[in-house]
Amino acid sequence: MALEFKLSNQTEAGGRRAQIVLPHQTVETPVFMPVGTAGTVKAVPQDVLEALGAQIILGNTYHLYLRPGHEAIRRMGGLHRFISWPRAMLTDSGGFQVFSLSALRKVSDEGVRFRSHLDGSSHFFTPEHSMDVQIALGADIAMAFDECTEYPAERSRAEESLRLTMDWARRSLDHFRAHEEEVVWHAELGGKTQSLFGIVQGGMYADLRRESAERLVEMDFDGYAIGGLSVGEPRDATLEMISEVLPLLPKDKPRYVMGVGYPDEIEQYARMGVDMMDCVLPTRAARHGLLFTSEGRLNIKGKKYAEDQGPPDPACDCMVCRRYTRAYLRHLMHSGEALSATLNSIHNLAYYLGIMERVRKSLPGAAACTQS
Ligand SMILES: [Zn+2]
Repeated sequence: MALEFKLSNQTEAGGRRAQIVLPHQTVETPVFMPVGTAGTVKAVPQDVLEALGAQIILGNTYHLYLRPGHEAIRRMGGLHRFISWPRAMLTDSGGFQVFSLSALRKVSDEGVRFRSHLDGSSHFFTPEHSMDVQIALGADIAMAFDECTEYPAERSRAEESLRLTMDWARRSLDHFRAHEEEVVWHAELGGKTQSLFGIVQGGMYADLRRESAERLVEMDFDGYAIGGLSVGEPRDATLEMISEVLPLLPKDKPRYVMGVGYPDEIEQYARMGVDMMDCVLPTRAARHGLLFTSEGRLNIKGKKYAEDQGPPDPACDCMVCRRYTRAYLRHLMHSGEALSATLNSIHNLAYYLGIMERVRKSLPGAAACTQS
């Protein structure tokens, strides 16, 4: 059995509260998922993520496949056990990193040949191989192997990319269904299995996006993601593509927008009916000294904070804001101290997770969710 989706009533705007019952955790949605690229949400220990209320985190298939290797992780009991994370996890397909990080990639109908960004070694990823790697990692949710269309892209390029992504979605699903019981915790968790999500692509062409969504829904995935957004397009275009696709996705399955966004964006999309989002922004920005606060963005490197005794965000009650001053965070950043990335990341994640918690509380069905 894969996931179970318990949906509350939807608001007129489409916003909805639900529970996704996954093998390792029942996830309350809408949910923000911190990105744990190489088996770690950079600079933040797992017990702190738990204390912050993170319900589900991401792992990146491309990174974990290259190092330490998916077979090694399987031998150590799967990704949950390897990184000591008892709650839910999702792995991406590796497709996005192959396209954004690796060198010398060559795409064919069969798959993608690429060179590792670590040591230049040559690798070949097919939809079937991506499924095998993700089954070995053993996250609660795996993603179909897709080709992320770059921005801007000519229509002919977006059409070709869509054709490939739909073919790969079919192959991903067939291979996954044939092997889903091989996940390392299958017997231990009473016969539960991973879930597989399809990914809607189509560049910034509304009709291609609709076609992609309709064809994926026919294939019957456990959930649906909208990929290929936040790749440099204007925010209006992101919003338009999400608005086009959401009404075509089944109401009784999770909807995930990949790789977004700024704090106001994640709130907006959650209120439109997006259940899941992930983004490196809160942790990446934190490492560069950018804090998201109730008063707007705050660059902690600023000279004006040199003796500022106030908390990073006066409205935040996270473990960083309760204890430390802006002056101290600025000092850590200027001194290149490792603690700087940790404290900044903890606050930013608390801020993002707090937005989703507020949205959840404001949506109907907060008291008890009912089966859809
Ligand atoms: Zn804080």
